[in-house]
Amino acid sequence: MMDTTDTGVTARLEAKANKRAYTPVFKTADIMNQHNILVLNCGSSSLKFALIDPTSGEQPIAGLAERLGESLASISYKYQGKKVSLALPDADHQQACARIVELLRELDLEQVIGAIGHRVVHGGERFKESTRIDSQVIDAISDCQSLAPLHNPANLTGIRVAQHHYPDKPHVAVFDTSFHQSMPSEAYLYAIPYELYEQHGVRRYGFHGTSYRYVSQQAIERLQLNPQDNALLCAHLGNGSSAAAIRNGNSVDTTMGLTPLEGLVMGTRSGNVDPNLYDFLADQCGYSLQQTSRMLNKESGLLGVSGLSNDMRTLEQAESEGDERARLAINIYVFTLARQLAGLATSLGRLDALVFTGGIGENSSRIRQAVCDRLSILGLALDRQRNDSNGNQHKGIISADDSPHILVINTNEELMIARDTSALTTTA
Ligand code: ADP
Repeated sequence: MMDTTDTGVTARLEAKANKRAYTPVFKTADIMNQHNILVLNCGSSSLKFALIDPTSGEQPIAGLAERLGESLASISYKYQGKKVSLALPDADHQQACARIVELLRELDLEQVIGAIGHRVVHGGERFKESTRIDSQVIDAISDCQSLAPLHNPANLTGIRVAQHHYPDKPHVAVFDTSFHQSMPSEAYLYAIPYELYEQHGVRRYGFHGTSYRYVSQQAIERLQLNPQDNALLCAHLGNGSSAAAIRNGNSVDTTMGLTPLEGLVMGTRSGNVDPNLYDFLADQCGYSLQQTSRMLNKESGLLGVSGLSNDMRTLEQAESEGDERARLAINIYVFTLARQLAGLATSLGRLDALVFTGGIGENSSRIRQAVCDRLSILGLALDRQRNDSNGNQHKGIISADDSPHILVINTNEELMIARDTSALTTTA
């Protein structure tokens, strides 16, 4: 592990020894003194990266390699206020990761990396919290591949490539599923033969856990709630959408299940449907299992109903121009979300706050208003003006004064990953 006492001094001494000029890359010497964390988030065809100071949350550099495996693959990043984009034709995860390593070296940033934090989507029942990565952890992540065939293989590639380039630095895995391991059995078990759970791990796992951990901690701080006694509903509404009931910092119920398909209507995912749809479509349309799965995951949700787009901004625009199918898609999205939030509330006993996060939750006053209108049964009411300004200047609070709190909190999964990684790799 690197010496974290004063990397700025170390760099200066090294520069002197190598008889080259030392040029500080940051305006503030502080960043050079920190144990910065390189956060890597490998998706199926993308790789997000950021160097993060886990204390301040500052990101000296952050970027995204996307369309990996395609001729249009590229990498873009923001450094010292400038945005840079580079083509990386046909690059795969390995090549993109190698380019990021090279970039960090060129910018003299490698020396301030204390450890690497990896987002891993599925940790099964094995990982109840973030963990240092060793060969046994890699095997266990590999064992979870059947539960997340699109995500875990990409996460593992990221880990292997980063370990190759940074063999002497500690690596940490932070799982989307861990936060929900606190759910009680009645919330995580499906009413199917129990052996399927025992022998194959068929159960509800839940996702977006890193985001829920961040926004629930923020809500408790901002509202000065008792950390040992609070009751929150949180809705993470992005391309993938889910919601969770969180009691005293612990997940007690969530909408996503064995996979991220269950629950709410999403950009291209259906959320809950009658499971007999598989049989029905096989009988009526000759669909194979794969065809129905593809339809439910990639061609449904907002996109499937509207026939127009999976993007909420596009749909809100189309709705305002009178597009009926866009209006219908938004109405189903809102109906489903309100219905499931009310169901989640039954696990809480009382409600201190409803938190909106994710791209839609953070930005769409239209969706928040429509959902809260339906949730008046829980006593929820918005302040129109605060809602229209996304809670800016009110610590994110958008509720009317006589309502349980309603907040907009911008999520920061990368910071959570950086903090977990730092906590597991620095000695006090
Ligand atoms: P991901 O799950 O891919 O991280 P995001 O959290 O970025 O996705 O959320 C993407 C969604 O947020 C898209 O549907 C996008 O249209 C929506 N969104 C972003 N900004 C707005 C806005 N101003 N109004 C409505 N929807 C928005």
